[in-house]
Amino acid sequence: MAVDPREQEGAAPRWRLLALAILILLLTMAVLAVLWQVPRLLPGVYGQTSNAALSATPDATPTPAIEEPTITALYSSVNDPARAVSFHLEAEVPPDRQVSEVLLWYDTERGHEVSQIAVPLSHTVTVSYQLDAELEGLTRTLTTTQELDYWWLVQDTTGETIRAGGTAVLGPRLVAMTAAPAPEPTPIDFTWAMSETEHFRFYYVPGTAAERDRFELGPVAEGSLAQIEPVLDAYLEGQMSIYLVPRVFWQGGAAYGDKEQLISYLDRNYTAVETWSYFTHEGTHALAQDILQPKENGGGPDGVLVEGLAVWASGGHYGYEPIDEWAAVVAASDEYLPLADLRAGPFYDFQHETSYLESGSFVQYLVERYGLERLKALYGQATKDAEHDEELVQSLYGKGYAELEAEWLDYLAGLEPSEEQAELWRLQVRIFDLMRRYETELDPDARLLPSTAPPEWVSDTLKVFLDRVDAPVNLVLETALIAAQERTKAGDLGGAEALLDEVEAALDAGGELVGPSLAARRQILDALAAQDRVILRADADAYRAGVAPNSELARAEAIAERLVPPLRSYEQELVRLDLSDDGLGARGVVLVHAGAAGEGFAEDGRLFAVEFVRTGGRWLMSSRDPAQPDLFPPPAGADSSALPD
Ligand SMILES: [Zn+2]
Repeated sequence: MAVDPREQEGAAPRWRLLALAILILLLTMAVLAVLWQVPRLLPGVYGQTSNAALSATPDATPTPAIEEPTITALYSSVNDPARAVSFHLEAEVPPDRQVSEVLLWYDTERGHEVSQIAVPLSHTVTVSYQLDAELEGLTRTLTTTQELDYWWLVQDTTGETIRAGGTAVLGPRLVAMTAAPAPEPTPIDFTWAMSETEHFRFYYVPGTAAERDRFELGPVAEGSLAQIEPVLDAYLEGQMSIYLVPRVFWQGGAAYGDKEQLISYLDRNYTAVETWSYFTHEGTHALAQDILQPKENGGGPDGVLVEGLAVWASGGHYGYEPIDEWAAVVAASDEYLPLADLRAGPFYDFQHETSYLESGSFVQYLVERYGLERLKALYGQATKDAEHDEELVQSLYGKGYAELEAEWLDYLAGLEPSEEQAELWRLQVRIFDLMRRYETELDPDARLLPSTAPPEWVSDTLKVFLDRVDAPVNLVLETALIAAQERTKAGDLGGAEALLDEVEAALDAGGELVGPSLAARRQILDALAAQDRVILRADADAYRAGVAPNSELARAEAIAERLVPPLRSYEQELVRLDLSDDGLGARGVVLVHAGAAGEGFAEDGRLFAVEFVRTGGRWLMSSRDPAQPDLFPPPAGADSSALPD
């Protein structure tokens, strides 16, 4: 009911009159014994009337009518010997409406289906549901706790809803029955989804980050191609095929013949390689297929030429890097790998970053000193046969590999890399060595690289590439590896080293999170998991207890809004996390995995930037805002001598 604000000014006498009128009206109605209908007859007056007016007639006042669906009682009871849990609900909707739907969810496989409970048409409802664990099983996600979460949802005839829930504490017999849900089998009829641009076909797994970002990925890939084409003076005809997989494997990129590439694309990519540099690197491999010349006895360029071309054309291995300055650091150290060894191979068995860097710098030297055409002739005619290739290089350059290597080392010896560049190089090697150790020990599937391109993959391979490990130790160490890279890029090398020390200590301890910052990360992970549960079961009090009291998140409206959707499942996957130096704050990014009863849920698959504060030994969420993935084409204007940004 709209009230003209001018009428309210100095309205006390009029209010008294109104109160008196209402009093008389109420008394009259009491005599008529229809008092209970007042709210329905005059809902506006009733709602607007001040408490003062009502308190004048306490005896005649009925329970104030509610204005929205309300859950008035909610509890569970557990009968452990009978292996049963009962859920009870009492609810009420405004008297001029009726309850139209009652839903019950509880955290078992069966409960996730969400039961619709039949109720008679009325504006009040009292209902119970008994879970018979022997009949329907007790397949739960929370297998290590005695708690079973549940919620009720009540909808009225206007479509308004209320959702609230709680926790039943299971007895020992029920706990003993608890089983974990079977992992989802790989669908036998799996097919890649596809989207395309002028030069690319992107194949992705439905429901993954690649699908979410497919329209942004197109310009990144096209921009990366436009970057390398003039460098290589080779231009793509037709399209390349890019398979975007939602897991990390090796360093996250691979190229197959026939211009097919495999690239890790996921929000929690712990290689932290910038996406555009996958496209320039693997794209160079694809373009280079057109440089190859037909050969009588087969064979092709060695690893130095293949990877050197890709690193050089990309301006670096994992982004823009000071290729020659870093190579000068390596050449002056014991880590230097003689070119003859690298060329003889197996190339991929050497320290990865060092072999790629040396190759990139050597190819860069050949191109800058002797021109691109000569390098392409070498690349196109090389066969990996030592004698043949030595003759080939002699015929093209008028000198052998040993002489070219000596020239190149002379050039490197004349460079003066800064101490910071040298430190950055050592840090890069350390980060990636540690990352590969992490893969081997705690994410072993990341060490698989199929010899055939994705279209030929069988279901076992698909299963590996459609899945990733999600144990707390994986989330903590992966986000720590990403944070170490972010600190490095931001120039905080000391901070990055300290974090790597902790990751290394954790691996030494077999995955135990011994370092203080890793322990804090684990606490934040637990706080997030606890918040997932309270959001899922719509427990407003527990939710409030987990957010910073002065933050926007703690406002009553914000809480109500957060708890409205009828969620079947809810998980905030931590994909980024770093702590402030004083250890009292943290910021990160979460990826929401959620499903709601009925229609889809808008937050599913989206990213949110989150912040936490440490108060009284607990981590409280202090902000949460929608975030976008870090996706950009190769930064313009940078050259190969720039520092990684
Ligand atoms: Zn490569």
